Parts: sequence; C-alpha cells; structure tokens
Amino acid sequence: MNKANMLYACGKSKSMYYGENQNEIVMHFLDSVSSYTQNKNARILGTGIVRCEVSSVLFDLLNKNGIPTHYKKNIGEGKMLVEKLEMIKLEVIPRNYAAGSIVRNFPVQYGQKFEPPLLKLDLKYNNDPMLNDDYIVALGIASNKELKVIKDLAHELNSFLTLFLKQRDIQLVDFKFEVGRRQDGTIVIGDEISPDGMRMWDVHTLESLDKDVFRFDKGDLVEAYKEVARRILL
Ligand code: 5GP
Repeated sequence: MNKANMLYACGKSKSMYYGENQNEIVMHFLDSVSSYTQNKNARILGTGIVRCEVSSVLFDLLNKNGIPTHYKKNIGEGKMLVEKLEMIKLEVIPRNYAAGSIVRNFPVQYGQKFEPPLLKLDLKYNNDPMLNDDYIVALGIASNKELKVIKDLAHELNSFLTLFLKQRDIQLVDFKFEVGRRQDGTIVIGDEISPDGMRMWDVHTLESLDKDVFRFDKGDLVEAYKEVARRILL
C-alpha cells in the first residue's frame, strides 16, 4: 500500500487510499474479522481476498442490472477500485428471516419469515443505534427525498440478491449495506457486500455460510466464505 496517499482506515477490515485521481479510491480488504455483539476480534488469513472477490462479483452484477454501485473493477490481491462517494452514515439492513439482533431484542421466533421484508436503518456511530425516519432527517443524515431513494434501493437490492442466491441454494436471511452520494447527489451503493455483513443459510441444511460461523464458533470461516464464492461464481 502506498502510505503517502492513504485516505483512511475503514474500521479494521479495510484500508482506503486514492487511486490515480481524487475521484477514485482503492479499497484494500484486510484479513481482520470482528463481531461487536460477541466482543470478538481476530485476524483470519484469506478472509480479505474472499470478501473482495464476492463483493466484486456482486457489484459487477448489480451494475450490469441497473442497480448503481461505486464499483469500477477488481485489481487483484484483495483490492478493488471504486468511485469516491460522500458516504451516508447509515447501515441499511433488509431482513427476510428473523435472526441476530431482532431475535435478541424483540419477541420474534428465530427463523420467522418476514413478508414483506423488514428494513432497519442504523446510525454508523458508537454501537450503531437503530434510527427511524424522523431521527434520520432531524440529525441531518439524509433528506426525506433521499430516504425514499435509499429504501427503494434497499428493497430492489434485497429482491435481486434473494433471487440470485436462491438459484445457488443460498437463503438470504439478512444483510447490511451502505450508501453514498456521487458528486451530482445521486445515491449509490458503496462499501462492500460480502459474507462479512450478510446472513446466508444453505437452503437444505440451514447451515451458516457467513460471519455467524465466526461469531458462534461454528467451524472454518474461510471455508464458509469460499463456499459462497464457489456458488456465486457458478
Ligand atoms: P443484526 O442487526 O442482526 O446485528 O445484523 C443484521 C445483518 O447486518 C447481519 O447480516 C449482520 O452481519 C449485518 N451487520 C449489522 N451491523 C453490521 C456491521 O457493523 N458490520 C458488518 N460487517 N455487518 C453488519
């Protein structure tokens, strides 16, 4: 990495630096894995590259299907070139089935299906508190108009990924994505979309193929991520 043009470290899991000009960013996916809820951090060799590969395949597919993202290209060694965005401090979380925080915090049954899917919006701050529309507008995070765009994008992305993964025998339980503004104000998907921020179950065995393998010591995390990569590259 060229430290001279280092932009910022994005949590512990990525570092970012400028590409050939100030509108391009190189995202370098690191081998760091963490779980805030389980208070666990680890360096697991190989996770960075697989996260980058999976994100690249999914972003490329989304771009080609008219769902706009910041992705330009995969440049190898766990790095991707993306368009610089002004990131919006939200974690956008569509849920198709109940797992994780919704089961811990609300009286719902693990595995319960949500029809239509639920959408949760958390603030990227401290321990990521859950927001509602009034909070988002009052705190100046996004306007009402932008919020509608973000919600529509979330449902479109969720429908697209749910179908795409179902065809690969993967049940999409929930996932987190992030959005940002292009210079002209258009809102597009940024950051990463990978097993690090998704819950995915094998449709037959309901076995986890995501970071829950790490959170709950269910086995080999790299193997789970590679299994997702194998299936989406089919
Ligand atoms: P939950 O609300 O159950 O903690 O998370 C819902 C989904 O969003 C899960 O797939 C989880 O992996 C993802 N998610 C929520 N917060 C974060 C975060 O801060 N980082 C990452 N990588 N994923 C998150």
